[in-house]
Amino acid sequence: MSKPIRVVGSLNMDLVVQVPHQPIAGETVLGSDYTTYPGGKGANQAVAAARAGGQVEMWGAVGSDGFGQSLRDNLEQNGIDTQQLQTLEGSSGIALITVDPSGQNSIVVSPGANGRYTPQRLPPFTPAALLLLQLEIPLPTVLAVAEQAFTQGIPILLNPAPIQPLPGSLLRQIRYLVLNETEAASFTQSPIETPEQAQMAAQRLQQHGIPTVILTLGGAGLAWADGEDRGYLPAHAVNVVDTTAAGDGFCGALAACLAAGGSLQEALRFANAAAALAVTRAGAQTSLAQRAEIEVFLA
Ligand code: ADP
Repeated sequence: MSKPIRVVGSLNMDLVVQVPHQPIAGETVLGSDYTTYPGGKGANQAVAAARAGGQVEMWGAVGSDGFGQSLRDNLEQNGIDTQQLQTLEGSSGIALITVDPSGQNSIVVSPGANGRYTPQRLPPFTPAALLLLQLEIPLPTVLAVAEQAFTQGIPILLNPAPIQPLPGSLLRQIRYLVLNETEAASFTQSPIETPEQAQMAAQRLQQHGIPTVILTLGGAGLAWADGEDRGYLPAHAVNVVDTTAAGDGFCGALAACLAAGGSLQEALRFANAAAALAVTRAGAQTSLAQRAEIEVFLA
């Protein structure tokens, strides 16, 4: 069997209620029935990688509540190995999302079991094709698992969201850094308005010791720096319905292509197409593209 893509990260149940307006402090607003959607950056990227053709396993934690089982079932329905997904006593991670008629969101995240996934809970690190990380679990856990992967020579793809200060020791272990322009701007402290500035920002981020940096630019595409080279790919012109999870779709598809032995250029092209397909559809995981349709889109 080939080695898996290992995603170590968060799983949340998103609870979405439509409201006539967002409540102000002390106000009660009557909303619609709620709808549940499996989310969390870790789970979203795991599903994106699996749909894009990757063999994926998920490490992380859900709670002992009903949402925990649903989150686990959802991954399994997407063909993801959950043997190392732990069920911890207490609540699962949730996001309480209210949406007003103009489409504006208000979101409260309760990390639940994600926040209790401490380094002590990590199983021994076994071989993998690629380690895919985000920052929605405790930073010490991210640092510990990155250290193990790095020691074993396993490439690490980090999507540093939500953005936070990171130790240089972690950055030096990263093989691929994938971040959006807001995240990049907060790292580099300089504006990113043109493809040229984006490529320069990617090169500046390489100075942390990261061989490959990819900046996603929303509807403007992406900029990359790899070793001495750099470049830019425009986004596909598509009918945009919902850009939720565009970045997660991008990271998952990129990981799937790289883990299958694709070159960086092949992986960027593949991920740019996967993310374009994702923005043409509503929702987070519901919008993530299957490998066959990505291939048709690119043909
Ligand atoms: P995030 O969701 O992390 O903010 P971005 O908005 O930068 O990420 O989007 C990630 C990728 O999704 C982009 O690099 C691009 O490939 C694709 N994408 C995003 N928005 C659009 C769009 N409007 N049209 C086509 N592709 C898009």
